[in-house]
Amino acid sequence: MARDDWEWPRYVSVAERRRKAEREMKKLRKKGHAVSPVTIEGRAIATSFWGKAWCKNLEDYRDYESRLPRGRAYVRNGSVIDLQIAPLEITAMVSGSSIYQVTIRIKAASKAGWQVLCQDCAGAIDSLVELLQGRFSKAVMDRICRQDTGLFPKPSEIRFDCSCPDSASMCKHVAAALYGVGSRLDESPELLFRLRAVDGNDLTTNLSGAMPLAKQAPAAEKVLATEDLSALFGLDMDGPVASPAPRPAAPAPAAARPVATRTRAAPAAPAAGAARKSRAKTAARSTRTTA
Ligand SMILES: [Zn+2]
Repeated sequence: MARDDWEWPRYVSVAERRRKAEREMKKLRKKGHAVSPVTIEGRAIATSFWGKAWCKNLEDYRDYESRLPRGRAYVRNGSVIDLQIAPLEITAMVSGSSIYQVTIRIKAASKAGWQVLCQDCAGAIDSLVELLQGRFSKAVMDRICRQDTGLFPKPSEIRFDCSCPDSASMCKHVAAALYGVGSRLDESPELLFRLRAVDGNDLTTNLSGAMPLAKQAPAAEKVLATEDLSALFGLDMDGPVASPAPRPAAPAPAAARPVATRTRAAPAAPAAGAARKSRAKTAARSTRTTA
């Protein structure tokens, strides 16, 4: 597409881009702007529950499928030189052929939706700190991450703008900024609540007394592992249980083997040829019907 061609003659190497980004960050700091670059160590953009869940949410939408990969390399190589997460707004400066300004507006979580979410989790979350560590049962975490009714925004709730010439659709700078949010949630998962303009403490308040998810199994860390239980009760009672001896490898049953490896062409070749033709016809018919 023409809009990509526009940037090609001005291609700058990653090293050069990095130097440029460093210079730009210095300038901004001098001006008193507290720059907050996204620094990724290793291959994974996000490693915590919330960071990964944010990235997964984005990647689960077909609208973004072809656009997001362009931002991965950008965020990994340190092109997001500043990322700020405020209520309902993400702003970023992304270094490409030049420095681009990215603004992403996120709709507030709907009041009704947030209430239902809190009711569904009521009684199951007693500590916001543990929630932010991703340490509640899968049922609770799944509920919060659920597409449509969870806490993560869906494409219809995300509007973006970039100062680059490719801003009509999601450009790599916007994609890089969105991934940057995933990385930032690793350090500060509470920013997700801030971004959606909700109070995370609502989740720990049992408003209605209803406890649909509270009865679900707690997180793995909160229960004794099966091994621990058997260590506690099993050993002194019965001794080790003999494990069944491994079965000798049985020869494959005759039916599983190919019946005839290769038969010589029988004298009745014309008949076989006719059968092949008729199979080909059937195949042609079936492709037509499925096309
Ligand atoms: Zn852009």
